[in-house]
Amino acid sequence: MSSQKVFKRLQHVKSCDDISCVESHADPHLDIILKNHTANIQYNIESGDNSMRKILLVEDNEMNRDMLARRLARREYEVIVAVDGQAGLDMAREHKPDLILMDLSLPVMDGWTATGKLKADETTRDIPVIALTAHAMTGDREKALEAGCDEFDTKPVELKRLLGKIEDLLA
Ligand code: MN
Repeated sequence: MSSQKVFKRLQHVKSCDDISCVESHADPHLDIILKNHTANIQYNIESGDNSMRKILLVEDNEMNRDMLARRLARREYEVIVAVDGQAGLDMAREHKPDLILMDLSLPVMDGWTATGKLKADETTRDIPVIALTAHAMTGDREKALEAGCDEFDTKPVELKRLLGKIEDLLA
């Protein structure tokens, strides 16, 4: 995916999120706050402001991906997305995110392999990776940590718990 497409998609994700917020509240003061908030987000993306921390979300399930991307964007993270392990690897190398959320079960290249490659590459090895898996299977956590993941969480995502792990790794 070109960075132009990612940029467009990102704007789309953020604007959908904020529009749904605006529509769900009748309070005109809140509308103004939300509109200013949207303007700040757009400004930060366009100016490349480093104060917004960038999260790469690698997830092949469209519904999970869009929902999590919107929820993170609302917390003022800049979110970029990849839909398979190889795309995730390419985007990590190109965009140098501050943190990666890595689904493990992915097409083209699975999340364990992609993480192993990121951790073997000195230009990407310091980026924290949180593995995400729908299967609460025994051994998944160990396998993820062995592949080099820094943390592990299960889907469906409990946002507060995941944000805690993200903030700990970014601290
Ligand atoms: Mn998956």
